[in-house]
This record gives sequence, C-alpha cells and structure tokens, in this order.
Amino acid sequence: MRNGAVGQLAAVPVMIPGAEEIVVRWGDGHRSRYRLRWLRDCCPCEHCRGDGSGRRRADLRAVPCDPRPESAAVVGPTLLLRWEDGHHTSRFDLDWLQDHCCCPAHLDDRRRGGDRQAVPSGTTRGDRPASTGGSAAGPAVTSWPAPMAWSAVAGDDRALADWLATVGTDGWAHLTGVPDGDTGLLAVVARFGYVRETNDGRIFDVPADVGPAGPLHTANPYRRRAPSLQLLHRVAPPAEGGGNGNSETILVDGFRAADVLRAERPEAFAQLATWPVRWRYADDAVDLVAEAPVVELGAGGAVVSIRFDERSRVPLQLDPDVVDLHLLALRRFAIILDRPQLQVRPALDAGDVVLLDGRRMLHGWAAEEPAGAASLRGCYVDRDGLDSRLAVLRRRAGDTEPTRSGSTPAGSTPAGSTPAGSTPAGSTPAGPRRPRPRGRGPKVAIGR
Ligand SMILES: [Zn+2]
Ligand SMILES: [Zn+2]
Repeated sequence: MRNGAVGQLAAVPVMIPGAEEIVVRWGDGHRSRYRLRWLRDCCPCEHCRGDGSGRRRADLRAVPCDPRPESAAVVGPTLLLRWEDGHHTSRFDLDWLQDHCCCPAHLDDRRRGGDRQAVPSGTTRGDRPASTGGSAAGPAVTSWPAPMAWSAVAGDDRALADWLATVGTDGWAHLTGVPDGDTGLLAVVARFGYVRETNDGRIFDVPADVGPAGPLHTANPYRRRAPSLQLLHRVAPPAEGGGNGNSETILVDGFRAADVLRAERPEAFAQLATWPVRWRYADDAVDLVAEAPVVELGAGGAVVSIRFDERSRVPLQLDPDVVDLHLLALRRFAIILDRPQLQVRPALDAGDVVLLDGRRMLHGWAAEEPAGAASLRGCYVDRDGLDSRLAVLRRRAGDTEPTRSGSTPAGSTPAGSTPAGSTPAGSTPAGPRRPRPRGRGPKVAIGR
C-alpha cells in the first residue's frame, strides 16, 4: 500500500486556489486527496493530537468550519500546512499521509486487511435511517430522578426497584449516603449485578481528565462492548468554596441529544448513524480500538446506543466526498451537547453515587477537579444484571408491568405529548444549575 521512500521523494502537493482539498501526487503516479477540514482535524501537533497517536485535545467546536491554509509545502519527509486563522503549522509525515489515503482502492485494501473490532453499525451503508416522527428539540429537562437514600435501597426491595427503574426511564439514577471506600460501592452493585472488571480494575479513580474542552463523553467507546452501566461514587467532600465547587458533574441524555440532531439536521444525523468512527485508547499497557458509529439505531429507527468521546476519536477513514459532512455532523452534535437546556447538573456530595446507562448518558465536568483529589471512584456493571433484577423484583411484587428497560412507567408521560408543567417546545430557558429532582408530585417527561 505504501509507496515507500522513493515515492515520497517525488511527492508534490497540489493546492488549487479555492478548492477545499489538497492533492498529493506520489512518486509512483498515485494521487491522494486530502480534504482541508480533515487535515485540520488530524493535526498532529501537541495542541491538537489529532493523528490518533495520543489522546485528542483539539476542540471540534473551536475549529473553523472552513479551514484554509496560507501555504502548503513538502519539506523533507513532511507536508507543512500553515493555516490562515492563526493556528500553528501542521506537520504531517508523508508516511502517515500515505497510510491514510482514502481513495476507494486504499479504503478497500484496509477493509480487506481486517480492521480490528469493527462493530456493526445497525444500518446498512447508504440506508437512510427511518424517522421516528421527529421529536423536535422538545422541552428542557426540568426534572430528573430524585436521589434515594442507600439506607432505603440497601434493605427494601421495593425501594431498590424504584431506584433501578429510573435508569430505563431517565438514563440514570442517584443514590445518597453510600459509605466511603470500595466496600460501599461494591455493596450497591451487589444489590443488582456484578462488577465488570476491565484494565482499569474492578474499581478505579476517575481521572480529572477534562482537558481544555471539558468534553462530554460516553463510557469507553473504544471497547467493542462499551460498558452498559457505569457507577460514579463521590468519596471526598466538594472543593473549598462550598456547593458544587469547581467539579460540578454534567449529564446529558444522549438519546435526547440525538433526537434533537435528527429533528434539526436530518442529514447530519444520517451521517452519524451510518458511518463508523474509530475510537482508540492507548497507554503503556493497553491498546483498545473499536469502530462503530456515534448513533446506533434499532428497529423502527429508534436510537439504541450512543458512542461519543472526542478524546478517543482517531482520524476518520472515509471517502473524501463524505468526510466533510461527517466532520460537520460530529461538530453539530458536540454543539448540541453544550446546550444548557439538555444538561443536568446534579449536586453530588460525599457518599453520592450516580448510576449511568453507559450507552446513553454522556457525562463530564464543568471544570477540573482540584489537583490530586481522587474524589470520584467508578466501576462498570453489565446491564443484564439490572434488567434481570428489576424483572424479578417486579414479578415478586405482582407487578404485571412490562419489564423491559425503557418501558413507560406509570406516572410518566408518553414521548411526544406535552406534559403539564413542562416547558413548551421551542422555548430555551436558562439551563438549570441546581437540580430539581423529581420527588413527590407529578412526574414530568423529558421529551423522549
Ligand atoms: Zn494543531
Ligand atoms: Zn490511494
């Protein structure tokens, strides 16, 4: 596939004024097209780290939609691009560029070579995902699961069932008063399932790895089976200053965000539901890679899984005629996740645990944790255990309600209707900074 050093020596970049790509003509006559937007996305500099060699730092939302180089030149084994918008120079190894040629023949070669861990996209390439009737942006998230006390959930099966059920309806559940240390978190897990051990261990410190973008992300998209449940346990008091301090947790329902994208930008939604993205996490001990689309659709076109973590996205290997649209779709999704009306910021005190649907909820932090503070601990659990436990609890309670997660519980409002007390679609109230947990009183659907 690689043309080799001889080819590189004669590599000539051709920049046609006004064109949105650079064509490199290699020594053997092969021509490779590189879209400018893609090159900017893959900038390997320390600031961006977009070449897949380390954890990405570039912020999709901050990169211009229409990046233009002032100059392009091959110097030795490197293509140098100096960008017009004041960004530093991007330096691409010619070897790397050759390996990332996305002409049909080279894409085919790589696919035949057996990309590791490809995950079916759930749609056939070129298919247009079915519409579910357009949920539109919907009302803001105005209520969410009320925190429940561990003392109740620990000993009362009905309380446990109530607590677990919110994972299906809201994507997450909130618990207070869980004892410090591993035993507290393990006791919570033991109520409904089993820890899924990974290279991070059974229980791990959550790094204050927010980066410049404070990126919202789903759990471990770089695993072929992304964790289906994640627990986060706050084990230290909030930072000085009271309240949530500077380590406020942010949650976004990815299903809801995807539905907003589908309603506002159907073409962008189709991009994210059709083409796979490659996700990677590598350190000294592991090199985890999975390839799957951001949005996975199930029967009838419903969103059934979200994978998104800008930090672990590696260069897109898509036809140059598609890649621009895909990058814009990713950017649009990241911008939607930023909307305050989609975000929930639960106040987490010491002893609080949140249980997240790992393939639905995105989480992040408003700012970095104080240096050295291991104030969040986490673990992964398989969803099967939760669904099974909930089904058995309901069977024992004589509850005939369907037990599939995501079913509409009594008291909630079917998606598409406008529940009393919710914000009308189209309005954009300021996002809630403090939670308004759903306790007693009418439940309010959150627009799915
Ligand atoms: Zn850069
Ligand atoms: Zn090629």
